[in-house]
Amino acid sequence: MAVADYTLLAQAGRARRGRLVLPHGEVQTPAFMPVGTQGTVKALTPVDLQTANVQMVLANTYHLWVRPGHERIRALGGLHRMMDWHGPILTDSGGFQVFSLKEFRKITEEGVRFRSTIDGQWRHLTPEVAVEVQEAFGVDVAMAFDECIEWPAERDHVARSTERTTRWLKRCMAARRAPESTALFGIVQGGMHPDLRAAHAAELAALDLDGYAVGGLSVGEPREDLFAMAELGASHLPANKIRYLMGVGYPLDLVDGVLAGIDLFDCVIPTRSARFGVAFTSRGRVTIKHARHRDDPGPLDPDCPCYACARFGRAYLRHLYTANEILAPRLLTLHNVTFYQSLMARIRAAIDEGPEALARLRTVATMWMKAEDGVADPESTE
Ligand SMILES: [Zn+2]
Repeated sequence: MAVADYTLLAQAGRARRGRLVLPHGEVQTPAFMPVGTQGTVKALTPVDLQTANVQMVLANTYHLWVRPGHERIRALGGLHRMMDWHGPILTDSGGFQVFSLKEFRKITEEGVRFRSTIDGQWRHLTPEVAVEVQEAFGVDVAMAFDECIEWPAERDHVARSTERTTRWLKRCMAARRAPESTALFGIVQGGMHPDLRAAHAAELAALDLDGYAVGGLSVGEPREDLFAMAELGASHLPANKIRYLMGVGYPLDLVDGVLAGIDLFDCVIPTRSARFGVAFTSRGRVTIKHARHRDDPGPLDPDCPCYACARFGRAYLRHLYTANEILAPRLLTLHNVTFYQSLMARIRAAIDEGPEALARLRTVATMWMKAEDGVADPESTE
């Protein structure tokens, strides 16, 4: 069996429901991975993740490579054992973080030389190093090292960068030492140029990788370009492989990504927003510090099964948040992660039901984006 074995189970338009079998377990797709940058989904334990029905998590290669180091993680029995998370893990290649270190990096054909923000040391991230580090973690899925460029970018620059991404991908493929235990996903680039993106997706499809990601999006481009490029990229990828849209997004973005033919997502939005006191609920966003929650004993979201919603009222959550208590981000994160997993379950059920059910879910998710707690204009509520 393939190291990342994808089975397509149902389709509604371009939306796909499927099953991805990885070395550490099975993932029902479409699926959302919470982000565990430092080898922890901030504020949650692995038991919390299981209770929230999380199937798979993402960790960041850059952070874990610099600290505590891939050899130390290997010696500790790998990332799964260190984190005590025994479900599937995907790591990014580290490229995105390194490319964002604008003043402290030098890009060559070999790779990227950069100065770490954590220990001040100069390091060299190459396709070979990215694969070595991720295999040392022992993760289920390693992402290929790709070149990340800014938006907007000149067409020639995008074309040259996309070609380099393909060369780096081939070096990643050649560097693999554990292809039976760590899958390698390639990343489709091509900027916002439809012809470049389509050509790159077709080129990568021909390489018969374990899975594919659509990258270089959610970098500041208009929303409609993001989903047009995701759909275009997905349409050129093989139907029997998983498709992952990196770094997206809000609840409505997940619905639109699925409608574009995407199976897998990750984003810091649910966890980061929680730490800023913002919850995603079936009534729209809730900003817990708002004064109108001060005397409200009702739950954050009456439709949510999470511990925070089952046991605590908004008044108490607001009190914890305004008092800067550590329990506030913990409970809000638990809620948001649970809400995102519930949303993915609803999306999967809607795909089984058909295109009309998906369209209805999209209408609901559009309302969530516009509404703060059921109130259409959030600015007027405070
Ligand atoms: Zn909840």
